[in-house]
Amino acid sequence: MKTELSEKLFAKAKDLFPGGVNSPVRAFKGVGGTPRFIARGKGSHIFDVDGNDYVDYVLSWGPLIVGHCHHEVMREVQDAMKDGSSFGAPSPREIQLAELVRERMPWVEKMRFCSSGTEATTAAIRVARGFTGRDDILKFDGCYHGAGDPLLVKAGSGVETLGLPDSPGVPADLARHTLTLPFNDLAAVEKLFAERGGKIAAIIVEPIVGNMGVLVPRAGYLEGLLATCRKHGALLIIDEVMTGFRVSSGGACGLYGIRPDLVTFGKVIGAGLPVGAFGGRADVMDRVAPAGPIYQAGTLSGNPMAMAAGFSSLRLMTPAAYEKLERTSAALAEGLARAAAAEKVPVQVNRVGSMLTVFFSEKPVFDAASARACNTKRFAAWYHALLEGGVYFPPSQFEAAFLSTAHTDTDVEHTLAAARTAFAAAAK
Ligand code: PLP
Repeated sequence: MKTELSEKLFAKAKDLFPGGVNSPVRAFKGVGGTPRFIARGKGSHIFDVDGNDYVDYVLSWGPLIVGHCHHEVMREVQDAMKDGSSFGAPSPREIQLAELVRERMPWVEKMRFCSSGTEATTAAIRVARGFTGRDDILKFDGCYHGAGDPLLVKAGSGVETLGLPDSPGVPADLARHTLTLPFNDLAAVEKLFAERGGKIAAIIVEPIVGNMGVLVPRAGYLEGLLATCRKHGALLIIDEVMTGFRVSSGGACGLYGIRPDLVTFGKVIGAGLPVGAFGGRADVMDRVAPAGPIYQAGTLSGNPMAMAAGFSSLRLMTPAAYEKLERTSAALAEGLARAAAAEKVPVQVNRVGSMLTVFFSEKPVFDAASARACNTKRFAAWYHALLEGGVYFPPSQFEAAFLSTAHTDTDVEHTLAAARTAFAAAAK
């Protein structure tokens, strides 16, 4: 596979950007080698600057649920752009998207749009603190909620890949208000709340973790978090930046029947344009400025092109589209497990809907500790062989792969053939 142009660009990029990238996990540190510079995408495929064609399971880290450059999404974004790229004033497309969100997720009684998932989670934490008058928050080891200071404690994702569980630059005084516990251990949460529940403003959780690779919540876990919050007057923030509109039209809350206090969104809600949102109980959201005293703002919040992208993409996600996505995703996950078994490589394929991870582990993977125990060397060998075979997976053991409605049976067949060769390479 030719990679000369990517290599040349990466050399230049390293001179311009820290580590050559504008977001850490893109640098391939978790698997080694040169990141591919992507020239364009179409449907389920991306094409790098050297002309290589890959089936894409990164999809910009999740947003592109209808694939790259869907003609309807393109058309609506272009239409919006013709009317003006930003006004800094209310505009009708905000209403259109918000109504669609509330229709699919009635527990989002009121919401606020912003421009990224990080903004959404940062604001949700502030709102929870402002509403409860408490300072502490509880998050879970390996859950990533964006790059905001209070949440960069035991975070997964790029932080995990780089082995920097706590970032320098986050004041210790701030970090001490972020309590952490293992994911999927409800007894530990109940114990902590029994000791200091009166000080905790909120629990924030990835309902299905994507940022340690995919970790599935145990039956009753999310319900238990909600009950604990209710008992102690804390809020439950379900971070649906990755899962929202992806694992079902109602996100993870819809899938598991949870009605949280606050929810955060990003990724799919913006279909590849910069969008985030937070919302939930009207009595809580009415404390946000200018209705209430808790400040939150953004120059580009509710940007019309971003609203158009999100709305047109979500409108395409009909029940039939989710069913198709489920079928393709199940076929891929089952095929990957079979291919690994055929090459005698022990793996765990964790999947919910169209997010999945192949963990190189003999044992079930259900929290950060069991994820960290995986064989990352094997993962790296597998990853590079897949890439050679024209399949672009996330370049880290600790990330989720995503499918879109543009992925076809042929894409899956191609991927499974490449994966079998890759498992053989990993077995060496
Ligand atoms: N929350 C979760 C669950 C995420 O997966 C991410 C990003 O990966 C974020 C928050 C942060 O979103 P953004 O990268 O848009 O700031």
